[in-house]
Amino acid sequence: MGKVKKGITCSVTGCTNPAVKSVSSDEFSMVQTNLSVNVRGSKIYLCKEHYKVFKKASKKLRRLERWRISRFG
Ligand SMILES: [Zn+2]
Repeated sequence: MGKVKKGITCSVTGCTNPAVKSVSSDEFSMVQTNLSVNVRGSKIYLCKEHYKVFKKASKKLRRLERWRISRFG
């Protein structure tokens, strides 16, 4: 996850907000965000709003992982 240069817009389809964060496309595809994105290279750029959506979804994923570990560990 990194900072984004000015002038880059959000990768989410139909969103024209300026991007504030970038995540790797691998990371993004692991998280079920229900967002459709235009992938340019290996990075996904997200605006403030969509980054919130991603963060929420990734927290859910982590909780699920912990649950799996505690169940099978
Ligand atoms: Zn956006």
